[in-house]
Amino acid sequence: MQCLAKVVAIKRLTHDVKEIALALISPPKLVFEAGQYIAIEVTEVHKGKARQNNRPYSIVSPPEEEGVIKLCVNLVPGGPGSSYLHGLRIGDEVSFLQPFGYFTIKSQAETALLFVATGTGVAPLYAMIKHLLNQGLERPMTLFWGLRSERDIYYEQDFEALSRQYSFFKFVITLSRPSADWQGPRGRVTELLLSQELDVEDLEAYLCGNMDMIRVVRGMLLEKGMPKRSVHFEKFY
Ligand SMILES: Cc1cc2nc3c(=O)[nH]c(=O)nc-3n(C[C@H](O)[C@H](O)[C@H](O)COP(=O)(O)OP(=O)(O)OC[C@H]3O[C@@H](n4cnc5c(N)ncnc54)[C@H](O)[C@@H]3O)c2cc1C
Repeated sequence: MQCLAKVVAIKRLTHDVKEIALALISPPKLVFEAGQYIAIEVTEVHKGKARQNNRPYSIVSPPEEEGVIKLCVNLVPGGPGSSYLHGLRIGDEVSFLQPFGYFTIKSQAETALLFVATGTGVAPLYAMIKHLLNQGLERPMTLFWGLRSERDIYYEQDFEALSRQYSFFKFVITLSRPSADWQGPRGRVTELLLSQELDVEDLEAYLCGNMDMIRVVRGMLLEKGMPKRSVHFEKFY
């Protein structure tokens, strides 16, 4: 389905991450599941020739936010998709294809949820977390999020507010290259997970971000005895 929306808000979250809010024009409402993505049409130059292509971007807002979808986009220098999105201004119109994807919450049970992200891989996980909390479900949820340094942190206050409001939601940010002043965990999110006592008996995991993190964390969870069907992932690159 071809969709059209208008940029209504832009938040600069860090030096290279922006949150872009799109008000839907056509269709005026989108039916989607938390964790799905849209495909943005971009022009890329291949072997000297311009061609149209699609780039997937996860929806960071939950489906209950009717009429608006939000994206959280990391600028990849020279990348046509992220440069296009970072160059958008309020009022610009954006064409995209309908929400796609199977990276959505699978079980409706009380199973505890483990979310693991690197970088903007947090986007579909944040949509899932907000959606589950909005539904009033009291499922134990933990988000482990790997970023590089202090200047790369965003949404921290939002996650802090959620963890104050909902005692069953916890989140931890680990930095791979923090300053000397950083009080939180240091190192990659894979290392942080290795140091955790995880009860994999009654757990479902959602991993999103770069391929290396997904490979290592998935391998670790399977080795701990989690069945393959309980480990879901979305590879950004
Ligand atoms: C299902 C899915 C959902 C996605 N959702 C998001 C999202 O919500 N937010 C988002 O920022 N990106 C997301 N991506 C990545 C996005 O689709 C593009 O790949 C990314 O924006 C780079 O595209 P580009 O055209 O700017 O650069 P390209 O020229 O296409 O990419 C250049 C290289 O940049 C690297 N790269 C790709 N994505 C990233 C990234 N996020 N951070 C650092 N390096 C990267 C890769 O090595 C890639 O080969 C998603 C990818 C998939 C498959």
